Order: sequence, then structure tokens, then C-alpha cells
Amino acid sequence: MPLIVQKYGGSSVADAERIINVAKRIGAVQKSGAAVVVVVSAMGDTTDELIELAHTISHEPHAREMDLLLSTGELVSSTLLTMALRELGHEAISLSGPQAGIRTDTSFGRARISRIEPARVRRELDAGRIVVVAGFQGITAEDDITTLGRGGSDTTAVAIAAALQADRCEIYTDVEGIYTADPRIVSGARKIDEVGYEEMLELASLGAKMHPRSIELGGVYRVPIYVASSFSDTPGTLIHARLVEGMAQQLGAAGVVSSAGLAAVSIVGSGMQNTPGYASRMFRLLANGGVNIDMITTSEIRISCIIDESQGRDAVRLLHEGFQLDRS
Ligand code: ASP
Ligand code: MG
Repeated sequence: MPLIVQKYGGSSVADAERIINVAKRIGAVQKSGAAVVVVVSAMGDTTDELIELAHTISHEPHAREMDLLLSTGELVSSTLLTMALRELGHEAISLSGPQAGIRTDTSFGRARISRIEPARVRRELDAGRIVVVAGFQGITAEDDITTLGRGGSDTTAVAIAAALQADRCEIYTDVEGIYTADPRIVSGARKIDEVGYEEMLELASLGAKMHPRSIELGGVYRVPIYVASSFSDTPGTLIHARLVEGMAQQLGAAGVVSSAGLAAVSIVGSGMQNTPGYASRMFRLLANGGVNIDMITTSEIRISCIIDESQGRDAVRLLHEGFQLDRS
């Protein structure tokens, strides 16, 4: 029987209606004959609201208390989703991160998963249940609850998929996959059908909405990760080991703003090192568009130009058009 891990982000479970909608999707997957583990984020803006609330009480909230507080967001969504599944007639059980065997180091607010003891999850799956795990949290060797950093539910999902040797990990969100550029900046931004782990890691660090650690884990344990929308059935993006030839043409021009008034614009794709023309083309496109380049950094799969923050959006557009990243 195939085993699928699905993760639903905060917007996908933002209210009761959406939770019920997600429960229906999960039920259909189980009906199709797969065992399902679901990981959820907190409902909507719950995490932001809890952080804000803590700061109205304390200037510098105690790190341990903060993590225990924030972990409650995912307990709410996981239990409500489980109730919705049961209401639809499915056998389902929710588990907190600790109950699901997620052990972490002691770095409150940005803990790393050290190990997963999946026995309980396995037992529930063997009993025919859908297992709903609260994302973003784990427990230290001293029994303190930790959180994995903002967006950490992605990492919970991929780590559980790795530990259970799941067939794949599906990340459901409010966008239809990974794009060649931020669609809010570039109107012609196009969805990428598939991408390698390393290229995706670059895109994630440049602002594609995924927890970078989840991509790292996926790459190490070779978990295929499928990113798609929970609001439609449009095909999403598959992140996996296969490198696609000519990917530099189809991958992203991304912009990320750093703290010091600077922005980095990058092109990402396999085969950068074999195609020296990319760098000079990039510099020419930016120069012709009146963008001044302060600094350049490169890797085998990325060329980045550091520029003034005020020119970030223009630069992303110039590169996207120049490299025809919107061409299908
Ligand atoms: N709820 C947490 C956050 O907003 C974790 C997550 O969404 O993945 O950062
Ligand atoms: Mg969230």
C-alpha cells in the first residue's frame, strides 16, 4: 500500500469550512487505497497573533515559554481536522509533535529535528487510521517543547516522510507550485513542473515559500516533494533528484531583500557552470535596464547580483523577460 504524507499550510486550514474541505481531499486519497499521514500548520495567522500577544505581555518573551505557546497553534488545527475527518466517517487520530516521536535539539525558536521515533505513527497507520500530526514542533531530550522556525511544518512533513520511507510528500499551499519568479512582481511568471533539490534550495533561500530545511532533508533522504494548491486540482511542482537539462532556461529570476537596503537578484538552474554566457547576458540585461550591480556571487547553479533595494523589482522583471523565463 502506498504511503503518502500530505502537509496543509495555514491558509488551507484557515477556517472551519476550509478544514472540512481539506478533510474531504484527505478522505479521497485514503479511499484511493493509500495510507495517509497529514501534517498541518496553525490556522491562518494564528502564529503571528500569538507572537504579537506574547509581545504585549513581555518585551522579550522567554524562549521556552514562547515555543510552548506557539506549539498550541498546530494543536488546534490538527485536532479540528481530525474531528472533521471523523465527522466524514474516517478513522483518524491527531498526534502532537512529541506524540509523533519528533525529537529536536534545544534551540528554542529554530530547533532542528535530531531524530524521529515513528513507532506510534506506524501503529496508528497499521490500525487503518489517518494520522494527523501537528507540524512545526518537537520535544527535546529534557521534555521541553520546541518549534522549528517559521514555516517549519514543511520540515515536519518531509522528515516524517523520510522516517516512514513514504512514497512521496505533498505540500499543499495557496499557490499552485513553484514559480520562475514571484508572480506578484512578474506577471509572466510561470510555474515550474519539476526541479532538482539543489536548485529548489536556491529558490527557497531566494524567497520561494518553502522552509529551506525541508528541501535539504528531502535531498538527503531522497523524498520526492510535490508542491501544489489545496484550492484547485491544477498540477503543481515536483521537487526530486532528477536534474532537468536546460533548466537554467526555465528556472527563476528571484529577488530577495536584505536588511541593509540591498537586494539580490539571481538566476537559478542546472548547467550554469557549463554555460558561461549566462553571467554576461545577465550583466548586460541589468546594465541596459539601468540597474547598477554592487557585487556578484555565483555557485554552480546560481548567479546572483547584489543591487540597490529600490531596483529589486525592476531587476527581477528585466531578467525574467531577458531570459524568456515565461516561455512555455
Ligand atoms: N505556524 C508556523 C508558522 O506560521 C509554522 C508553519 O506555518 O509551518 O510559521
Ligand atoms: Mg503558518
